[in-house]
Amino acid sequence: MRIVLLGPPGSGKGTHSAWMQERLGIPQISTGDILRDAVASASELGAKAKGHMDSGGLVPDGLILDLMRERLQRADVRGGFILDGFPRTIPQAEGLDGLLGPLGQALDRVLNFVVARGELIGRLTSRRVCPKCKAVYNISFKPPREAGVCDACGTRLIQRDDDTEATVAQRLEVYERQTAPLIAYYRDRGLLTEIDGNQGYEEARAQAERALGVGADR
Ligand code: AMP
Repeated sequence: MRIVLLGPPGSGKGTHSAWMQERLGIPQISTGDILRDAVASASELGAKAKGHMDSGGLVPDGLILDLMRERLQRADVRGGFILDGFPRTIPQAEGLDGLLGPLGQALDRVLNFVVARGELIGRLTSRRVCPKCKAVYNISFKPPREAGVCDACGTRLIQRDDDTEATVAQRLEVYERQTAPLIAYYRDRGLLTEIDGNQGYEEARAQAERALGVGADR
């Protein structure tokens, strides 16, 4: 299955990717994680991306499409993938169609996670992430078992540089302006299902399971 997760920062894309990967046996591809790793390793891509990321803006479409072209050719995505944070602009969505077409592939479903703006700001500023295995926590409603330590791999959790209040406001504005138009793009193609992310993790997960046609196994 080839899935796109759409929705503003903090709407649950990364959190729900975790069970989807396991359940569907396909990898999550998070352009944000790839870019953060590139910044951490001081690669050429990282150097080009860092300023955009720090300001809460988007990395140029050309760079993103280059990295996705390479990523979508790897063997692990032949059976499908979960795209988390890509595409983020109309040119990226068109570029994705252009990458999949020649591979004889097409998207199966786009899930749009809808969460109220006030809730997003609270979620993002209290989010903590594992820099190693990328697990996502929240100090208010999904804390790790031991404070500040990843349940899955024992690594010390961090707050992302762009999860501060000022940058969060900028990221939400960028989302509205540049990414929200993708909702109509995918609705027009009959691919979109809305997931109400305001109701909490369990309800959003149940809706996503129905949308993907996988029964609850819990
Ligand atoms: P995320 O982890 O998805 O919130 O992404 C963190 C940051 O990485 C974003 O605020 C952007 O600066 C950059 N980024 C991630 N994915 C993309 C993308 N598809 N297009 C442009 N910039 C991106």
